[in-house]
Amino acid sequence: MVTTATQKVIWRNGALVPESEALVPINAVGHASVGAVFEGLRAYRDTRGRMSIFRGLDHMKRLHASLRVVRLPCPYSAETLVDATAELLRANKVSEDTYIRPWVFIGGVVRTLSQKQPPERTETVIDMWPSKSGLLTERGSRAGVTSWTRISDRSMPPRIKAFSNYHNSRLAVLEAGVNGYDQPIFLNDRGTVAEGAGACLMLVRNGSLVTPTLTSSVLEGITRDTLLTLARADGITVEEREVDRTELYLADEVFLVGTGFEIEPLVVVDGFTVGDGRMGPVARRLDRIYHDAVRGVDPRWSGWLTAV
Ligand code: PMP
Repeated sequence: MVTTATQKVIWRNGALVPESEALVPINAVGHASVGAVFEGLRAYRDTRGRMSIFRGLDHMKRLHASLRVVRLPCPYSAETLVDATAELLRANKVSEDTYIRPWVFIGGVVRTLSQKQPPERTETVIDMWPSKSGLLTERGSRAGVTSWTRISDRSMPPRIKAFSNYHNSRLAVLEAGVNGYDQPIFLNDRGTVAEGAGACLMLVRNGSLVTPTLTSSVLEGITRDTLLTLARADGITVEEREVDRTELYLADEVFLVGTGFEIEPLVVVDGFTVGDGRMGPVARRLDRIYHDAVRGVDPRWSGWLTAV
């Protein structure tokens, strides 16, 4: 076990190991494919230069929810995984905004695997890498509704973070690129708005912040929950309801929200300019209060932070 940061370390099955030694056999199938589930969370540097993990326990609880649905065992509790993440960030002497990627996969090689039996052994890994935050910067993306339908709870539940789900996302991202857009927007199998490829979607209409319900073929997004909570506390009316495609064309603002995306304003949707074609006032307001929550500026939300 190496805990000096001369080489980057990765947390693997309870120990810190140098990245170069964190290997999987070439014939391992569970690694980042069928059956593997994961999380994506962030640690932010606060205004005093200290690092904290944002909503770490909620992310690790969602990892356990994903594990439950795909019937994978994991010996590490959500609390243990938050501690492990803090340990990993300390060992790597992290002092800048960081993206954290935990994942759990079926241990063993191809011939030992049976899809029928729940696997006896899984591996749990936590990696991390620097990731700049876009908060408090002017930004905006162009989006198009994709012709691919969002996966559904009837086939591949989008509620959980299974790697396999991202095949659907990838196809939509590729199509968006071919059509000259930055991001796709998915409709679900009922034809109403679901989410982006790696983010939930929110829009502003008549002064209300609107987002599809959690039964609209969306991941149970933690940023979604954060922003609904922050918006309510800030006196903004919020609506969780079904959203029609044409509402995207009539909205004053549309944005994608997620750990990686943070708040990404969509300034064009299907060729329609959204609002005045720039980041709108509600996005700007949420950007500020989200920033103040993740960076520990607003003490009301300090319960969401785990000091590294
Ligand atoms: N939907 C999908 C498909 C995602 O991959 C993500 C990113 N995890 C989100 C929504 C947003 O979730 P969160 O805010 O928890 O990161």
